[in-house]
Amino acid sequence: MKTRILLPAAAVSLFSCLVAFLVLVDFDVYAQRERLAGPNVKTTASVTKVERKPAAAFTKAAAENATLRNSLSWTFSGKAQTGWNIYIPLISEAIGTDSGPDTSEFALALSNWQQRSGVPGTGVLDTATLETFTKYWQSRRLGRFSLSDDDNLLAAPITEFFDPTRSPDLLQLEQQTYAAYKKMIAAAAKDLRHELKLTKDGDLAPEEKFLRIVSAYRSPEYQDALRKKEPNAGRAALAVHSPHSTGHAIDIYVGGEPVKTLDSNRLIQVQTPAYKWLVKNAHRFGFYPYFYEPWHWEYVGK
Ligand SMILES: [Zn+2]
Repeated sequence: MKTRILLPAAAVSLFSCLVAFLVLVDFDVYAQRERLAGPNVKTTASVTKVERKPAAAFTKAAAENATLRNSLSWTFSGKAQTGWNIYIPLISEAIGTDSGPDTSEFALALSNWQQRSGVPGTGVLDTATLETFTKYWQSRRLGRFSLSDDDNLLAAPITEFFDPTRSPDLLQLEQQTYAAYKKMIAAAAKDLRHELKLTKDGDLAPEEKFLRIVSAYRSPEYQDALRKKEPNAGRAALAVHSPHSTGHAIDIYVGGEPVKTLDSNRLIQVQTPAYKWLVKNAHRFGFYPYFYEPWHWEYVGK
């Protein structure tokens, strides 16, 4: 009789222990999985599934990026290009990191962007990834080359221009573009008050060249004449159809030679506070860049 009571009791306690053991083991596995995944785990459903890894998983990718940023061979518009140093501010803005291009954090942020953009999330900035970036940047541009019915041109004061001797018939731009440019420059002057020369009212000082307009509206006739007169001018000047013929495109002074596409010149431009500020803030005012020309910005609106 004793054993009859004891046996089921023993079986019950054994079973309870087993259940508790399984629950604890499973809980621990689950907890560990949570810890491994870290704070990057998305709690909300997203359209593209992004596999999250810790930055430490990207040390090799970071080392590859340190080389590729100086050496990657790629082509843009039929012209051979080397490396992606010139585009680091735009890339960092797109992937949402302030970490340098040689870091694991940069490679991690890139990996997440790659996966969202349909590229394998290696964290390595290779040719396919760079082409995905250029497509993305190009897609945000105005995409037209003539005045629309809504475009009204006005002549901006000569004091807004980089060249104080600029011809009076080359001061035009579209009026909403000009209003947005004025707002943007006022915000930039405020943020960059330690880098730029300002008046006591906080406006750009007359002698300050940064952020001034180098070129804005160019009529199709003028564009055509420019093309014939200066066969050695940059690609944009040579273009038959130019976004400058909409009055929405502004070449803004961001340092160096105002509009020279030479790599060494563009490398100087992309490191100026004015350019870096535009990359981070211009979209708030409706302006989007032409990635290849650090000076060229197009008013698309918000
Ligand atoms: Zn331009």
